[in-house]
Amino acid sequence: MSGILVVQEAGRNRISFEALAAGRVLAELTGLPLETAAVGDPNSTVFVETSGQPPAVAHAVQDPLLEKYTSDGYVLAFEQLIRKLEPSFIVFPHTYQSRDYVPRLATRFGQVLIGDITGIEAGPTFVRQLFQGKMIGSYRHPGDGPCFLSIQAGAFRADPPQAGTFTILPFEPEIPASAIRTKPGVPFRGSAQTVDLGSAQLIVSVGRGIKEADNLPLVQDLATALGAELAASRPICDSGWLPLERQVGSSGQTVSPKLYLAVGISGAIQHLVGMKGSQCIVAINKDPDAPIFEVADYGIVGDLFEVVPALTEAVKAAKQ
Ligand SMILES: Cc1cc2nc3c(=O)[nH]c(=O)nc-3n(C[C@H](O)[C@H](O)[C@H](O)COP(=O)(O)OP(=O)(O)OC[C@H]3O[C@@H](n4cnc5c(N)ncnc54)[C@H](O)[C@@H]3O)c2cc1C
Repeated sequence: MSGILVVQEAGRNRISFEALAAGRVLAELTGLPLETAAVGDPNSTVFVETSGQPPAVAHAVQDPLLEKYTSDGYVLAFEQLIRKLEPSFIVFPHTYQSRDYVPRLATRFGQVLIGDITGIEAGPTFVRQLFQGKMIGSYRHPGDGPCFLSIQAGAFRADPPQAGTFTILPFEPEIPASAIRTKPGVPFRGSAQTVDLGSAQLIVSVGRGIKEADNLPLVQDLATALGAELAASRPICDSGWLPLERQVGSSGQTVSPKLYLAVGISGAIQHLVGMKGSQCIVAINKDPDAPIFEVADYGIVGDLFEVVPALTEAVKAAKQ
């Protein structure tokens, strides 16, 4: 057994690249070589746009029966690839698709999926949240077979894309048509109104410091001036001031934008786990001891009702 295999998901490039970033962390900790695999044509973008330093080898898993996702088809295909390559670790992005078939795939090897990983530490030890973020669990694999992992969206920062110069090896599994017992429907993508904060580059997020719903236009104006998505801490969504789909945190969305501007948010752990992967965090809070300042790159200690309108005007002026 040797190596790390990162299974990427065509059409879910950002989170696939985050899984690749996690694979790189694991490769550094273990000294094992890294390879990738994905279902699809070797010319598809999931291979040619592989982000950061490409691994040496990518496996293009191909079969007409895999053109549409089914749990039966994917389990059979990846079982054969894993038996052939014998990797020590197999890393997946934590998506609806991987949640569907990877636990079953893992049982084919007498294993379980260590799902929704937020960190990888020396050992290697895998970190994941329990009970909606109230507790953190650390897991080690005993090494008696392949270790199956899935990576939480936003937990690892994907490296900037760069051209790939790696070898793509076609892999054609044997999948009898009779093995596919389900008829694929339209892939689940959430409701039509769902805001994909996970893909937003700029986010202005508002917390209880805003005091009442009538004050929300203040932060909406700043978000509009910046061209940012509006997000919120849980109490704002629980109060119905903004829809639940705009909530960031352990029971909301996980985000990793270039800029996360936290307005009147204290920085409770359940909020931080959803946004700490942001590239630049700016916090506005009147309390200099607010925990949000511990993760902030820039902090403004002040009254948001003074700071936010001034910032909005400054952004508008800078854009003129
Ligand atoms: C199981 C569980 C899951 C949870 N999931 C989530 C989750 O997904 N997301 C989430 O956000 N929370 C979640 N929570 C709730 C979390 O614990 C906090 O209660 C919540 O994040 C606090 O929101 P807040 O920062 O907006 O409010 P507060 O903690 O009340 O903070 C308000 C902040 O505004 C500042 N402020 C007040 N007035 C002003 C002003 N005029 N100018 C500037 N600053 C001002 C204050 O100093 C304070 O720091 C969860 C809790 C549990 C138990």
